Amino acid sequence: MELSDAATVLRQYFGYDAFRPGQEPLVKAILEGRDCLGVMPTGAGKSLCYQVPGIMLPGCAVVVSPLVSLMGDQVRALVDAGVRADFINSSLTPSQQGQVLYRASRGECDLLYIAPERLFDPRILDFFEHAQVPLIAVDEAHCVSQWGQDFRPAYLAVGEFIAQLKRRPVLAAFTATATEQVRDDIVRLLGLRDPEVVVTGFDRPNLHFAVSQATQKKKAQFVLDYVRKHKSQSGIVYCSTRKEVERVHQILLDADLRAGRYHAGLPMAERSQAQADFVNDELAVLVATNAFGMGIDKSNVRYVIHHNMPGSIEAYYQEAGRAGRDGEPSECVLLWNDKDIGTCRFFIEQETENERLSAEGTELVRASRRRLLGAMIGYCLTTECLRAHILSYFGEDAGSVLGLAAGDAGNAGNAGDAGDAGGQPRSCDNCSNCEGDVDAVDVTQEARAVMRCVQELRGRYGKGVVVDVLRGAKNDNIRRFELDKCATYNTLDVPASLLKEVIELLACGDYLLITEGRFPLVGFGPRFREVASPDFSLRMRAHVVARPDRTPKFAGMGSKGKLKGAIGLDEMDAELFERLRDLRKSLAAEAGVPPYVVFSDATLRSLAQRRPKNAGQMLEVSGVGQKKLERYGKDFLAEINC
Ligand code: ADP
Repeated sequence: MELSDAATVLRQYFGYDAFRPGQEPLVKAILEGRDCLGVMPTGAGKSLCYQVPGIMLPGCAVVVSPLVSLMGDQVRALVDAGVRADFINSSLTPSQQGQVLYRASRGECDLLYIAPERLFDPRILDFFEHAQVPLIAVDEAHCVSQWGQDFRPAYLAVGEFIAQLKRRPVLAAFTATATEQVRDDIVRLLGLRDPEVVVTGFDRPNLHFAVSQATQKKKAQFVLDYVRKHKSQSGIVYCSTRKEVERVHQILLDADLRAGRYHAGLPMAERSQAQADFVNDELAVLVATNAFGMGIDKSNVRYVIHHNMPGSIEAYYQEAGRAGRDGEPSECVLLWNDKDIGTCRFFIEQETENERLSAEGTELVRASRRRLLGAMIGYCLTTECLRAHILSYFGEDAGSVLGLAAGDAGNAGNAGDAGDAGGQPRSCDNCSNCEGDVDAVDVTQEARAVMRCVQELRGRYGKGVVVDVLRGAKNDNIRRFELDKCATYNTLDVPASLLKEVIELLACGDYLLITEGRFPLVGFGPRFREVASPDFSLRMRAHVVARPDRTPKFAGMGSKGKLKGAIGLDEMDAELFERLRDLRKSLAAEAGVPPYVVFSDATLRSLAQRRPKNAGQMLEVSGVGQKKLERYGKDFLAEINC
């Protein structure tokens, strides 16, 4: 099996001319019978790495995917491209599952998607014993790791399952989570043998990042303004709870904006409808919890606003990364406040014990979640380049990726580095910190006052009490515990929100330690002594609200790079693009598939620009494969040349 055959498959079924970075070595490894691990950011094109060999290798490749609700869509998109694909999950009756397996074992299927929970079904075992299975691809492989955000106990069974197979297929794992620990877990727990590990760059130059601390009221106002100013664009607003989703959704409805909502508390039918309407461009904006989005391949999402801070940088980058999969400039805004930190801590402590985990195991999961949260808080507080901060977190040398001077990159998980005064100007030119939306303020004095207060209170109180003491509050707690007698009582006249932020910043830098449990207490951290040193300084972001009227551009593009319209086409092409979009919509409706399954936005854009005159020319457009040409070519050529 030659790599040139892989290029033919890529062209014929998917209509792409070339592999993207990382895809080729992974395809090659699989074809050579080697296990592999592909680590690529969301939108980089992991699926093709196993789909192409799956099509080429004799027999039926099995894809393990946690995305039960999306398997149908994924398989439909493949079938539409002419691939013999099928799936097995709980949405099928046992007899339907039997039929799928029967067809697959007769060699009528090249790619079979299976939910991890199904693996121990005796019929599946039987299938593996009798059918030819050349490859098992594990998608979202980080779900196996307790260090990660999306740990799913069912994934632990995947490794066990593979270990007991008599004939072991090639094993290929894929994830967008790049931290070392998660990577090690994947190799160990899935039992990858001497895998070819391919890690591509994590930078997404077309995404603009902004972070803004905002009160509840300001958050809502920002979302409202943003959605209003970007009515024709597709976007997602993530909230951390169902209640917040309802509230923000209502605010948008009250302003006569057509917005959808999505969370696990809604009936399945309503959720599916909202998802379909969003994917089909019937709804421009969807307000959702993180229950929405995994595996959604909607390439024209222009903005992702986080109305609340997520629990980890992994989760944030994955969710924000759903913007701009088509490579067009897109916006990622994170709004946060102290309450979000409290909510995240609450979620962690609420973590109920899992049947597959011992009490110790549960505590381990909790401890790692706390660590992940600490890094997320660091991202919110940093005054460094946001992009550099994310890249260093994922272990990349951000300086060389972004062309920054050495020492510019943020140091992940340690926002204490935000305390480094001076330093080089850092500029990715495409995040709110680099654009000067953020002024750093010196909070060294406040930090020292906090340390004195924590010392006086001997680590027995929470963040709120420390702040109340320093600000000289008069309330029950203060009176009951006679805290107004403290030497640090009423010694600072600064806003409570600022002080809370200083405390979090000190905790990120390990100067303070915020304990676990339902009522977290503030005590000294391992580096507490350093705060007293004359060299110590701490800087913090000034509170700036992100701009709802920003036009996204590519990193390093400067103001000249501003796009005409939302999609970067001149007027004539844009007009044709809109017509092609309409055509796509009606063809999709006829075929009963989402529009992006017909062609992506990027393909429509190329069609509008290149205006192919015949089938041969149309086939040269990226994203137009043989089957798609046969199915839709005539209609599109007619529309382009009318
Ligand atoms: P991931 O799983 O890594 O998030 P996907 O596999 O969903 O990413 O791919 C993201 C998008 O990129 C899809 O629309 C896919 O069709 C497209 N894509 C993947 N590989 C290529 C390629 N070699 N050339 C052009 N587009 C590609």
